[in-house]
Amino acid sequence: MSENAIPSSLPLELSAACAVGPTAGGRPRVLSGMRPTGKLHLGNYMGALANWVKLQDQYECYFFIADWHALTTDYADPSRIKINTLDVALDWLAAGLDPEKSTIFIQSHVLQHAELNLLLGMMTPLGWLERVPTYKEQQENLSNKDLTTYGFLGYPVLMASDILLYQANFVPVGQDQQAHVELTREVARRFNSMYKTDVFPEPEALFTPSPKVPGTDGRKMSKSYGNTIGLTEAPATTAYKILGMSTNGQRIRQTDAGDPDLCPVGDLHKIFSTPEVTAEIQRGCRTATNRCEFCKIDASNSVCALTQPIHDRRMHLASQIEDTWEMLCDQADKAASRAEETMFQIRMLLDLSRDLGALKRHFLATEEDRLQNHDLSNHSDWWQLSSNQRGKLLRDYWHNNLLPLEIPLAQESNRVFTSLERELEEPFLSAKKKRLFVTSSRDVEKPDEWRFSIPAKSYEVWALLCWRKKDYWLDDFVIPQKFYSQAFAQAKKSLKKDEKIQVNVLRDEENRFFLSVAGSNYEPVTDLRSNYEPLM
Ligand code: SF4
Repeated sequence: MSENAIPSSLPLELSAACAVGPTAGGRPRVLSGMRPTGKLHLGNYMGALANWVKLQDQYECYFFIADWHALTTDYADPSRIKINTLDVALDWLAAGLDPEKSTIFIQSHVLQHAELNLLLGMMTPLGWLERVPTYKEQQENLSNKDLTTYGFLGYPVLMASDILLYQANFVPVGQDQQAHVELTREVARRFNSMYKTDVFPEPEALFTPSPKVPGTDGRKMSKSYGNTIGLTEAPATTAYKILGMSTNGQRIRQTDAGDPDLCPVGDLHKIFSTPEVTAEIQRGCRTATNRCEFCKIDASNSVCALTQPIHDRRMHLASQIEDTWEMLCDQADKAASRAEETMFQIRMLLDLSRDLGALKRHFLATEEDRLQNHDLSNHSDWWQLSSNQRGKLLRDYWHNNLLPLEIPLAQESNRVFTSLERELEEPFLSAKKKRLFVTSSRDVEKPDEWRFSIPAKSYEVWALLCWRKKDYWLDDFVIPQKFYSQAFAQAKKSLKKDEKIQVNVLRDEENRFFLSVAGSNYEPVTDLRSNYEPLM
């Protein structure tokens, strides 16, 4: 993560790249963020932004400006946050981040970040946050601010939410941010284990080598040292700063030989000059045949060759600030759409779905109403319908949360039976292809066992209908992902192409039901009976 002029161990920048991320277009996903602390300097550019510009050609990229993170330290005076946010956005765009290739947005415009932060905060142990090395360190470094706040203690959870919301797998960071990535992994692991799911991949730190850009005083470039050269500064300003740079005591007299490896101007050449210019400068320094001021002019020219076009683009973008703002708002909608995909799964897992679902059945006014609604025999044409029509009708009833537990004895029971059996081979998928509806008749040889095969795809939920031919009773289950995800994922690994996954349901003498996926241990599912959620 880049430093961006505020204490280096704060969550200034978050980055995540999925090597095998769940992307629609097949490209791995990258997610990065940066705290808004105003215009960027060359250190920020070389430490992160230059790499981002390259990543967007290979990955599906999401870049966000972390204004909520800025509030963890600047809550008492937020007056600069919006200005700084736009300064960062303009610098990003000027440097080459492209809204046609990437999604570029402001964190607080995507409310799902806050929602996930709240939910993950519920299950993150306090001790994990107190252990983050930067917590105490930053309280000491920023002693002019009161950081004994809930928000500051919890910022690693917000960071974890930023990453996990987009289901990222890799987090390119500096060494000082490794603890945050480890915490994110722990949060993901705890959530997955607690809710028996694999919704969050555990992100891994990805260390990207980036050159350390020297400031004008020879120390690392940082706003807190006041030694920066702005990425989008006017070339004349850049030249003025470089011409005044310290040489760290090299070549006190120009007739002295110097060592460019010990001089910050020599370091600038290594980063920004061509190999030919750098070699020539180094030779001239070591043989005292080049003057320092000419060396600095060459360094300035090399830096400005990079920054002049960026400066010009920023000037143009700043003159159209309303367009930039509108673009950021549109991009936030796009990011929110992706974030909502994750939150939909999370809400389902935590039973926070907006669907009334099982509660409709639970709250039906009276037992009489309930029976009335669930009695298919009230359907006067029932036995005149074809088996296909009856199958469809059953599904419709199920959609509407009105599927009866008991089906009246069929006059042509075999046809009902046949209809359902046929669906065994072609499970019904909901419109979003995420929910599976499968019916199965009882195995004649094994009267207390039902078997069916499921295509090896990702599902949020299975709706299983198991028929008992003898009494025409329908046992219905809604199996959330957490009950089958591990065994299902395991089974998928050993499958050949187009092979399906075998699922078994067993009933014991006490009428308890158990589910097994591809030979895994049988898990009890009796409690999931009739736990309807309407299909979408
Ligand atoms: S010639 Fe260049 S690298 Fe050598 S000391 Fe002077 S400014 Fe530094």
